[in-house]
Amino acid sequence: MTSYANFYRQSIDQRDNFWATQARLVEWQTPPEQVCDYSNPPFARWFVGGTTNLCHNAVDRHLAERGEQAALIAISTETDTERSYSFRELHAEVQRMAASLLALGVKKGDRVLVYMPMVAEAAFAMLACARIGALHTVVFGGFASGSLASRIDDAEPVVVVSADAGSRGGKAVAYKPLLDEAIRLAQHKPKAVLLVDRGLVPMELEAGRDHLWSALRTQHLDAQVPCEWLPSTHPSYTLYTSGTTGKPKGVQRDTGGYAVALAASMKHIFDARPGQTFFATSDIGWVVGHSYIIYGPLIAGMATIMYEGLPTRPDAGVWWSIVEKYKVTHMFSAPTAVRVLKKQDPSWLTKYDVSTLKALWLAGEPLDEPTAQWISDALQVPIIDNYWQTETGWPILTLTNGIEQQATRFGSPGKAVYGYNVKLIDEVTGQELTEPNQKGVVAIEGPLPPGCMQTVWGDDERFVSTYWSTIPGRQIYSTFDWGIRDADGYYFILGRTDDVINVAGHRLGTREIEESISSHPNIAEVAVVGVADSLKGQVAMAFAVPRDATGLENDAARLKLEGEVMKRVDGQLGAVARPARVFFVTALPKTRSGKLLRRALQAVAERRDPGDLTTMEDPAALQQVRALVGE
Ligand code: AMP
Repeated sequence: MTSYANFYRQSIDQRDNFWATQARLVEWQTPPEQVCDYSNPPFARWFVGGTTNLCHNAVDRHLAERGEQAALIAISTETDTERSYSFRELHAEVQRMAASLLALGVKKGDRVLVYMPMVAEAAFAMLACARIGALHTVVFGGFASGSLASRIDDAEPVVVVSADAGSRGGKAVAYKPLLDEAIRLAQHKPKAVLLVDRGLVPMELEAGRDHLWSALRTQHLDAQVPCEWLPSTHPSYTLYTSGTTGKPKGVQRDTGGYAVALAASMKHIFDARPGQTFFATSDIGWVVGHSYIIYGPLIAGMATIMYEGLPTRPDAGVWWSIVEKYKVTHMFSAPTAVRVLKKQDPSWLTKYDVSTLKALWLAGEPLDEPTAQWISDALQVPIIDNYWQTETGWPILTLTNGIEQQATRFGSPGKAVYGYNVKLIDEVTGQELTEPNQKGVVAIEGPLPPGCMQTVWGDDERFVSTYWSTIPGRQIYSTFDWGIRDADGYYFILGRTDDVINVAGHRLGTREIEESISSHPNIAEVAVVGVADSLKGQVAMAFAVPRDATGLENDAARLKLEGEVMKRVDGQLGAVARPARVFFVTALPKTRSGKLLRRALQAVAERRDPGDLTTMEDPAALQQVRALVGE
């Protein structure tokens, strides 16, 4: 089979055969009896009857053949440390962590919340959970106590694994006080907190609840904790993501389907081999970190690099020096990071030998053509855009070059990936659009392929009502992205259909930010929209109606209130969610029936034509916005 078109058709038309073949890429303790059970759509159960373990496939499986080869390379330019763990060393560390979690009372099926900077112990914790059949819930370290508390309440973790601090730009960012505050705010109280003390900031321990990893590790130095053989459909983790409502959704993933999907993607999408080195510059708090810092590369027997630090510190050559030093073959990053590098002296890109790189994959947000062209010229390697979501866990659209080299079309992430029955749906009629160059909602006909979300954690109903619609006899999953497909099958992504914005590749719900801003005593009403930004893709901009506007015509008073609002968002959600600007207005643009004209607001904030405004209640509201952003 050489042609991608055939490979793709097979994955859709002979779904079970196709995935039965892919399933051989992972090791099973008991082989599956049934490839896909779709008797209860839209819930798909993959590799039913099979038992396996993600940690076994990521670590133990490689011990015999490449036990002494590098598995995990943790590099921090924040603390100036580099530590490489062979598969054998990783195996030992993961067992120490697994034994510690067991000692703290974690059992199969329990949740363990991981709130960690990019240090090796975070990987140990995730793999240890997988090993014992506990679910990890990694919360991005940039989130603050409010976000963390809502996730603690939803996931109800038995144990939280955390650290004294992260570090950014050489400055320690304390985690422990945020965690303490989150636990105080949450209804659910974890039984224990396991803390990695990096010695960055002093930490106060709560007796009976808080435990130091250094102490537990010493107690369990020779721990032998065998992998639990888990049913393929056993949930491996939850990962929270933003949607239209303020409450984040816990995306729940299975075990066997995820292992197969990642193993297959390493082969067909990344054309990866054991012994090569993968460097994904993301964070374990995001889905890329789960699939392509931890599980995917390790399952493929590769070394994976975990990087704590900025792309520009100590200088803009730091990533390429890592590529040279560790002979990185596969690099994965986000367009924003490339745009940051583009602002630096271009000579950093030619200072190091990057000839080992096979390609640079970019994902998480739209890749604009000038950025793609610039990095492609500078590195002289293929730049491969790929489009996917937390929900899917691995690419929906890209160039599947492991099967057949496909031409890059700048501006397009590529074609439908095998396994994904991608459709474009007319938003109004709900019908499939079959002609080229029609704009519709990017959708996937069920069942979702292996590795995608099983459900929303604890809320099957929400999974169905949020994502699924039906065309007679067919279940359709919505990505909430607009797209078009050209005559050759290349897709182009045109932005979200919902109120989700994408800041520097980070997905944020505008409602969450609005809720946080509204909690300020002097804010009566607020609308947050995403506004195009040349560096971050989009930034959040808030338009708020103060309860008491007295004195706000004064610049200093306005700046003070703006600062307070931003501080509130920082404290509740984290700096990632902080709006770039908070503008104060006397009214928000609404329809006569009181519905916020979000798209019009966004258009004016981006200095575009807001379109038809005949239903608008008070045109002066938009005039104010126009005057403010024009400043
Ligand atoms: P997340 O779940 O945080 O990975 O965010 C997923 C969303 O990011 C998608 O629904 C898209 O809106 C956007 N996205 C991800 N990758 C791309 C890409 N390659 N091109 C355009 N948008 C993307």
